[in-house]
Amino acid sequence: MKEIITNLIGNALKFTDVGFIKVIVDVHRVHKHLSKIDIVISVQDSGIGIPKEAQSKIFNMFEQQENQDARKYGGTGLGLAISKKLATLMGGSLDVQSDVGKGSVFILKLNHLDIASMQNETVQSDLALNHTAINFEKAMILVADDVDQNRQLIKESFDSTLIEVIEAVNGQEAIEKTKTYPIDLILMDIRMPILDGYSATRIIKESCDIPIIALTASIMLEELTKIKEQRFDGYLRKPVSKNELFNELAKFLKYTAKLSEAPHEEVIEVDNAADLKNFLHELDIEPLYQDAIAQNDLKIIAQFASVLRELSTRHTITYLQQYSQTLLDKIDTFDIAQIETLLHDYPKIMKNLMQKVH
Ligand code: ADP
Repeated sequence: MKEIITNLIGNALKFTDVGFIKVIVDVHRVHKHLSKIDIVISVQDSGIGIPKEAQSKIFNMFEQQENQDARKYGGTGLGLAISKKLATLMGGSLDVQSDVGKGSVFILKLNHLDIASMQNETVQSDLALNHTAINFEKAMILVADDVDQNRQLIKESFDSTLIEVIEAVNGQEAIEKTKTYPIDLILMDIRMPILDGYSATRIIKESCDIPIIALTASIMLEELTKIKEQRFDGYLRKPVSKNELFNELAKFLKYTAKLSEAPHEEVIEVDNAADLKNFLHELDIEPLYQDAIAQNDLKIIAQFASVLRELSTRHTITYLQQYSQTLLDKIDTFDIAQIETLLHDYPKIMKNLMQKVH
């Protein structure tokens, strides 16, 4: 996909002197059970355009528009042929619509793409707590979802926590499991065979008041409104990030919060002094830090954070692992204020660590 899109955008840039280049990504269809989608990506430009008779030929190997200025545009005439082939191999298509002098639009259609129910962490920015800061107390939750991968993803999210995850593959099973296990909270998919999430929730709520969070990939207002009207205690939109999941659960389950923001002298705990000594010994990161604060360049700050994360992971300096991860998360979300605070705290943290070995 990257190959195709890079190629299309490259062409659009090359053949457009004035005007615009637009890349539009559109979800055309969300499949049953919501773990597959059809997407259409179009790359549109206001460039020189392609005559009708040339439009089918440009997808052939080594084909370029006739009389094209080779010195100005260069190229090999291979890009579109390869792109089309890749699109076909993925079960999709690549087509063009174009008017000479007005511009072109290349349309890439891909069907049945798998989408994960869990989202990459870095998308989050405005949540109250980072999931690493939430320490749940012992609890049992039920995940009702007919898609095995979805249940596994949620289950894995609680891997190193005290939360035990029970599974159900449809609404009926969810009702039965609720009767047999001391469930503290339910994550309920909406669309399931046999008995859907709405009905199961209604029935469960008749006999007990376990918090039930709806899980839905729907972006339809209708469905969201329906969820809000029903007796759900909350809802999460798929793909769900670990941060969203933990923050939503923290509204209902007991937890202790680990301090993750501004470090205070006493907070820094080091599991093993020998690790720390080795770590500090190997630490030649100071110049990187100096660069990071002097240049104010996110790339350099990210480099500093990555090196620090790698080192602190290798030497199991948990506090710094968490610090560098938080810094990387803030860089991903362009949270400039937090980046500055974190960078500003770094010398204090290091001073504190140095004292621990002396
Ligand atoms: P290359 O760009 O290396 O020549 P491609 O296979 O990517 O090879 O493109 C083939 C030809 O299709 C180009 O040489 C050009 O004539 C035409 N073409 C591709 N994209 C555009 C575009 N966005 N606008 C106008 N012509 C294009």
